[in-house]
Amino acid sequence: MATTDAPEPTDPATSPPTTPATTAIFDRDPFTLGVASGDPDATSVVLWTRLAPDPLAGGGVPADSVEVTWEISGTSGFDTVDAGGSVTAEAALGHSVHVVATLEPGRWYYRFRVGDFVSPVGITRTAPSAGTAVPQVRFASASCQNYEDGHYIAHRDIAEQQPDFLVWLGDYIYEGAAGEIGVDGNVRTHGTPEPTTLSAYRDRYALYRSDPDLQASHAACPWFVIWDDHEVENNHAGLVPQDVADQPTFAARRRDAYQAWWEHRPVRLDPPAADAATEFRIYRSADWGDLVHLALLDTRQYRSDQSCGAPELSLDPPCPETFEPDRTLLGAEQEQWLFDTLDAHTATQRWRAIGQQVVMSDLTLGGAVLNYDQWDGYPAQRSRVVDHLAERQIPDVVVLTGDIHLAGTGTIRAGERGVGAPVAVEFVATSVSSGGRVDPVVADLVNSFPDIFDVELEHRGYILHTVTPDEWRAEYRMIETVKERESPVFVHSTYAVDRGTNTVRFAS
Ligand code: FE
Ligand code: CA
Repeated sequence: MATTDAPEPTDPATSPPTTPATTAIFDRDPFTLGVASGDPDATSVVLWTRLAPDPLAGGGVPADSVEVTWEISGTSGFDTVDAGGSVTAEAALGHSVHVVATLEPGRWYYRFRVGDFVSPVGITRTAPSAGTAVPQVRFASASCQNYEDGHYIAHRDIAEQQPDFLVWLGDYIYEGAAGEIGVDGNVRTHGTPEPTTLSAYRDRYALYRSDPDLQASHAACPWFVIWDDHEVENNHAGLVPQDVADQPTFAARRRDAYQAWWEHRPVRLDPPAADAATEFRIYRSADWGDLVHLALLDTRQYRSDQSCGAPELSLDPPCPETFEPDRTLLGAEQEQWLFDTLDAHTATQRWRAIGQQVVMSDLTLGGAVLNYDQWDGYPAQRSRVVDHLAERQIPDVVVLTGDIHLAGTGTIRAGERGVGAPVAVEFVATSVSSGGRVDPVVADLVNSFPDIFDVELEHRGYILHTVTPDEWRAEYRMIETVKERESPVFVHSTYAVDRGTNTVRFAS
């Protein structure tokens, strides 16, 4: 997708190394974390790897800087190398590599080399340019992969499905301390305490990236990624940690977590600034020909703290703070940016997708806010967004959501629930592996909420979207059980949005 409106990063491939780089220093494979690509536009894509011969103990690279070669080919056997170059992996950035590779339009194979070692091969592609008529795109949306909770069968299925791209909606790592195997049905362990430093976050990412199914999913297609809370700490809000006792050290911790995120993600962004208080902007947009405009939001970095002390599943009326008009999930700048990018792409793309973290649909129960972390806890913010969609008559908006570990779909309206004008359809991915947070026995209750078309609370999985000019189809692919290494994948349901309706229907 043509990444627009985002700050242009400097190209690490052309940055001068700080010390002379070396290559022939490894006695074992430095490509243990696999490869990835991301943020494709019409002429380029970001290629990623990180050198880590000792992945779970700091990486283990015995030099400050290492020269890495990258290669592009039209064939998986690299019969001809059609593009390539070299880039320096620096210790200060975890020996991660982010190459902005300029490519002819299409689908490409890529790999990296250091000395005699060759990385696994990844598949990537450029995006159709914004003016190109695109008959169809297939892409996955997914979130929430607690390593301890289950196996990444969803990622194995994504690799087999070979979508054009994947949108990752957050909770790529979980920051929890090691649980005990066998307790709460964990299938494996984080093995380490809760990370609070750069080196500890690096090791946590490396643990996740060591999973072969996750590596296969990354190697299968480019990803567009955003974060949610667990990339730093559960339910944090801006610079406010979940636990007030952690406040004195939280800014430095968040900065380290942001850097580890950058080091492990195939993003077209510069690394975060050294100053812990400086914004690290990740919200951005992309285009897939004339078919889809994708706005990727950050509802974590700029938000007001959760109101009322954020009680869970409370049936009490919300405290007055909840309704304060200046409460925000997006921050004023991002909110204006979202309005601008939606306005500017109303006529240029058939569909507008908003990739974001927490449930936007109204799930209040008799006025009670069941989850203060999602848009229900920020009613003024939600009104500003849905009112903008309604007033500007921005058509064919689809909201892609993660976070809540349940599968669901429904209609978002401006004004009163059930009767207001429909302005968007929301598709909530379940989780790749993270345990369900809502007891399956309440499925009937949630299904009875106005505007909620369907929810499924029991299974883990992801959504495979197939979008054409006239119809958006969302296939909810689910795993029998993520507690076993091998388990069947099944289609729970497929839902569809007909262009011009802003309403979801059952398709199959
Ligand atoms: Fe999660
Ligand atoms: Ca979350």
